[in-house]
Amino acid sequence: MATPFTPKDNPAFILHGKLDTSYGTLPVPEVGPHEVLIEVQETGICGSDVHFYNTGKMGLVSCCGSMCLGHESAGVIVQLGSALAKRAEASRIENGAAPAGAHTLQLGDRVALEPGTTCRMCSDCRTGNYQICEHMEFAAYPPFDGTLQRYYKLPSDLVYPLPESVDTIYGAMMEPLSVAVHSVANVGGLRTNQNVLIMGAGPVGLLAMAVAKGLGAGRIIGVDINADRLAFAKSYAATDTYIPISQKEGEKRADYSLRAAQDLLSTLRIPERGAGSIDLVVDATGAEVCIQMGLNAVRPGGTFVQTGFGPPDVAIPMFRVVTNEIKIKGSWRYGSGDYPLSIDLVARGLVDLKPLLTHTFPFENALEAFELTRAGKDKEGKPVIKCVIHGPQ
Ligand SMILES: [Zn+2]
Ligand SMILES: [Zn+2]
Repeated sequence: MATPFTPKDNPAFILHGKLDTSYGTLPVPEVGPHEVLIEVQETGICGSDVHFYNTGKMGLVSCCGSMCLGHESAGVIVQLGSALAKRAEASRIENGAAPAGAHTLQLGDRVALEPGTTCRMCSDCRTGNYQICEHMEFAAYPPFDGTLQRYYKLPSDLVYPLPESVDTIYGAMMEPLSVAVHSVANVGGLRTNQNVLIMGAGPVGLLAMAVAKGLGAGRIIGVDINADRLAFAKSYAATDTYIPISQKEGEKRADYSLRAAQDLLSTLRIPERGAGSIDLVVDATGAEVCIQMGLNAVRPGGTFVQTGFGPPDVAIPMFRVVTNEIKIKGSWRYGSGDYPLSIDLVARGLVDLKPLLTHTFPFENALEAFELTRAGKDKEGKPVIKCVIHGPQ
């Protein structure tokens, strides 16, 4: 038997199509033996949510019918599935005899949610690459409902207890932080003292800079076309910033990208290869010129990681990639070990999420939160980096 639980109603914020949202009520999910039910307390708004809201679609996927939005959440466990309830009971009887570090989920635990349930059976799941599982059921990715509702259920291994020092609201930011951790640490394989170039100083780019800093990178170079964003990046985690020179009239994009990369290196006195050169590039923009610039700036033998989304097809300097053995890697969401590392970086003070949390709204004003994130600036002109919705209460 699952732990006893008397549900309230389950209000949800639902997208019906382009710029068409409403509040509705969804059934309260029923938990299986190894699942937990979470009362969602905080949900961050992500670029992908806003993109769905704006267009009703994302890449090739469109929002067919209605879908509850949101996937960056944290909350409190309000029900344990039957197998978990037994374990919780046993661990209480043992009274803290569990080895250090082990934690048996209990009712009332504050947790960060990893909002993608995988099949666990396919070869990708079984080799530890569950982020590319073809049977992934991901929150607010059609047709699956998201987390902007009172109750959400997940398998027990996809919720991560938050240490006392980490407020629940920052628990909601573990999702975008894990995207950054995945790209920089897991896929990018950053080592201490390596130099990193981050293309784009939006939320994911800033978090990638923060992760690089937290993991002891040498130089962290932030690139963006917006001077205000770069000023923030410098105050936050970047050691250097660069605004690309402008493209000449009639100049081919590929020629421009090469010239901009060379200008970046010479302006910041970065060698093309050897000590002090750029070991890792993370592109958080998806823009063709940024991708080309990054591939032209990374050192021979270096790594280029793509995490941002732009046009589906882009031209890349393939001759340079081949003759310099540049490793190009895709980075998709997050995988094994990313959430624990994110939580640890924050708990130890190696990553500071506070400066990125710029706006909060109650659940009743969810639409306002989407409109604000879409606008990118509030009425006072303050830029929106991360906007979080409280509740439903
Ligand atoms: Zn997200
Ligand atoms: Zn799978």
